[in-house]
Amino acid sequence: MTTVTLVRGDITRESVDAIVNAANSSLLGGGGVDGAIHRRGGPAILEECRKLRASRYGKGLATGQAVATTAGDLDARWVIHTVGPVWSAAEDRSELLASCYRESLRVADELGARTVAFPAVSTGIYGWPLDDGARIAVETVRAADTAVEEVRFVLFDDRAHETFVHRLGHR
Ligand code: ADP
Repeated sequence: MTTVTLVRGDITRESVDAIVNAANSSLLGGGGVDGAIHRRGGPAILEECRKLRASRYGKGLATGQAVATTAGDLDARWVIHTVGPVWSAAEDRSELLASCYRESLRVADELGARTVAFPAVSTGIYGWPLDDGARIAVETVRAADTAVEEVRFVLFDDRAHETFVHRLGHR
């Protein structure tokens, strides 16, 4: 049984086995939560991301996929980088967003991570409507077949936190 918990705060302050990063396909850093993770996690994370780009991920990480690195100075063992889809009104990319959560949990299982912190992937710079992003996050995690014991959604502001509280209440 996976327990889903909610926290309002900065994901880089969490103590968990794995912190999920809403990365971009370059894996070489960006704004939002990605920038915060690299800033607080230190250069070891970027160094490993560069190695991934030089080896298995020459073209970068595809949308909906996930890959792990060290967590550097963060209070976690791993960062799991996943690339959310950019919101599109013309095209339904929901399956790609669901894939981010599923693939991150699959990687967490491979690593043996039991506690995993997620941000609200795609709901920042990538423009996904918060309520729909929360729905997909909660539904996908609840449906996942995983050995992860706690999925902790870490929401950066009150609005995101309240949206997830509301969503978690729907069963
Ligand atoms: P994306 O490009 O996938 O939209 P962003 O990092 O822009 O990624 O935003 C994803 C979500 O993460 C947004 O809801 C944003 O408010 C939130 N966020 C930004 N910084 C942090 C942080 N330090 N901890 C947790 N969530 C954060």
